[in-house]
Amino acid sequence: MKYFVISLYIAAICIQIYSIISSFWILKKFKAFAFGIMFMPLGLLVILGDKLYYLLDCCIRNNFSLTNASFYLSISVCLWLGVVGLQRLFITLDEQREKLEKISKHDHLTGALSRLEIESQIIQEIKKSDRTKHPIAFVMLDIDHFKRVNDTFGHPVGDQVLKKLSLYCMSQLRSIDAFGRIGGEEFLIMLPETNQKDALVVAERIRQGVSDLVCAQVQDQNITIQISLGIAIYQPGGEREGLAHEIMKKYSRRADLAMYQAKQAGRNQTKCWHE
Ligand code: GH3
Ligand code: MG
Ligand code: MG
Repeated sequence: MKYFVISLYIAAICIQIYSIISSFWILKKFKAFAFGIMFMPLGLLVILGDKLYYLLDCCIRNNFSLTNASFYLSISVCLWLGVVGLQRLFITLDEQREKLEKISKHDHLTGALSRLEIESQIIQEIKKSDRTKHPIAFVMLDIDHFKRVNDTFGHPVGDQVLKKLSLYCMSQLRSIDAFGRIGGEEFLIMLPETNQKDALVVAERIRQGVSDLVCAQVQDQNITIQISLGIAIYQPGGEREGLAHEIMKKYSRRADLAMYQAKQAGRNQTKCWHE
């Protein structure tokens, strides 16, 4: 009987240790809720300590109770199931949070950053550049005569073109750059630590690459597009600047104006903003 009781205690203790490890895992993964979660492993540790005492009592002094051991085993199993359930709940909630974050930060059609997200990344970069004094290039990109693509081949083909263009642009940028969809067929690129000369090289490389790119195929017909781009450079400390949000708006607008100059000058080209 004694060894049966000991084996019940050992089984219960093993299950309890597993629950403690799982609850520490939850604590580590969800540090933001640490104050509430930490009481779970603490409580489990206290129960474990108590039961280790019973086990020793049973082994050393032959003082054992089958009822107590069975009760402890059933409590350990219940707690284990509860902790596993909570772990699953936390994992599911975290996965859903990640999905929602991805949806809110990206444009669902093209995979580019959403307008809100690129604007907030630009604001962060402006704040950073005020310390580092590195310039930031704003590049506005708009597809030339995109309405014609929709009118000739239909909206779904237009969507394919937007996707392909976005994928291509993103493949041409560094990991520190940002590419966002501002409107229908209008995109904004942020190039940190980039002066006008380098921004022009990047913009022209993209423009040339896009004009060579087959964006969609309809009945063996290759659909290609051309784009117009406008560049504005923010140089921190060059002038008295306002809030990062105002700077972001001001330089996006300047890049937009430069892009319209490119349109007026005949499209399929890049223009830089000048005072
Ligand atoms: P421009 O060279 O002056 O920029 O001419 P454009 O035809 O590109 O510009 P316009 O502003 O006249 O037309 C933009 C078109 O983009 C009209 C609209 O139907 C299309 N568009 C906007 N969003 C989407 C989209 O999500 N999917 C598709 N397929 N078309 C879109
Ligand atoms: Mg256009
Ligand atoms: Mg447009």
